[in-house]
Amino acid sequence: MHALVINSGSSSVKFQIVDPSADASQPPLVSGLVEQIGEPSGRITVNHPDGKEVSQLPIPTHTVGLREAFRVMDSRGVGPTQLDLAAVGHRVVHGGMVFSEPELIVDAVVDKIRELIPLAPLHNPANIDGIDVARALLPDVPHVAVFDTGFFRHLPPAAALYAINADVAGANNIRRYGFHGTSHEFVSSQVPGLIDRHPDHTRQIVLHLGNGASCSAVANGVPIDTSMGMTPLAGLVMGTRSGDIDPGIIFHLARHAGMSIDDIDNLLNRSSGVKGLAGVNDFRELRKMIDNEDPNAWLAYNVYINQLRRYIGSYMIALGRVDAITFTAGVGENDKFVRMDALDNLDMYGIEIDPQRNEQPNDGPHIISTDQSRVKVLVVPTNEELAIAQKAAQVAQKV
Ligand code: ADP
Repeated sequence: MHALVINSGSSSVKFQIVDPSADASQPPLVSGLVEQIGEPSGRITVNHPDGKEVSQLPIPTHTVGLREAFRVMDSRGVGPTQLDLAAVGHRVVHGGMVFSEPELIVDAVVDKIRELIPLAPLHNPANIDGIDVARALLPDVPHVAVFDTGFFRHLPPAAALYAINADVAGANNIRRYGFHGTSHEFVSSQVPGLIDRHPDHTRQIVLHLGNGASCSAVANGVPIDTSMGMTPLAGLVMGTRSGDIDPGIIFHLARHAGMSIDDIDNLLNRSSGVKGLAGVNDFRELRKMIDNEDPNAWLAYNVYINQLRRYIGSYMIALGRVDAITFTAGVGENDKFVRMDALDNLDMYGIEIDPQRNEQPNDGPHIISTDQSRVKVLVVPTNEELAIAQKAAQVAQKV
């Protein structure tokens, strides 16, 4: 049994065909990327069981891109129409207050996702494009929307509400929604088994450190706080996003630097974070710069770690007792220095990383704390596509 997973962005579509019952370490049957949609020349990459196929062609629309990708898969005998798919899972960024669970897609669901566009103007329209195209190409397969906000839909009000005028906030749906929920749920649900605790008695912090980064505090399977907010701009310092800043900075830039709202949006989302401070957003490049004693890279790294430690500290207090702290996503799974520095000097709180275990390659979930460490520290690879495939297959089963 296979499911197709689609993550549709404004100018790109990522897709995978995976077996929802597969082990998380198993590679997908097919993975691919349609890029530069709408530009003069686009590119389609398909990794299939026989190798990799890259085609360069104009891709004016999502429809053209996905149709061409399907053709490549068909020619290799792994096309979505050839595989008797159980479901198509769509990553949808914003489910607002409407969606917490994965939802079988019918027209009314698409309409509701459209109504949420003001909350995610960059993401939800692109997600809808992906849904429309895939439903047209695969009309007989159940399509399921899996929401990035879903896991955090029921955050306690004290964590979800911002202290701004309640009438204004209410009228404009302003609150903390949280993102990366599929990853936080996928990773946090594995932790109890890995540390031999009952899921109903496990209090944990999950640090999803990729290009986008977020953390969550999860008590007995239920998230009680998370760092991203109404939008994915809040919280930790990220590859290109600022994370938390004083909101007064926005007024200052508008009033005194002659910047428009769009300029500031771009600044904070695309040219801030580690990139804004050091000029690069990829941690492999940042590490090389640090090795070459680049002062800006060092400063950017310290700002990143400082902010991460602020959140870890506050979530330790929010949870009261912490059983596990888990690193995941590109940086969290691969950068041993980030892990070491994020939790350095916390032995008085029962947190102690074993330097040798921390050096282990990232080939599956593993514990990196010492045997004495009261709080277990782990690396658990995330796999959002597999999680979406699992959820989509579950919903489709009930159809
Ligand atoms: P996203 O899904 O947010 O694009 P990922 O979880 O794939 O991000 O993480 C991508 C980031 O992970 C890269 O930008 C890079 O900073 C970091 N990364 C990937 N591999 C390594 C590595 N071996 N060492 C350090 N950082 C890495």
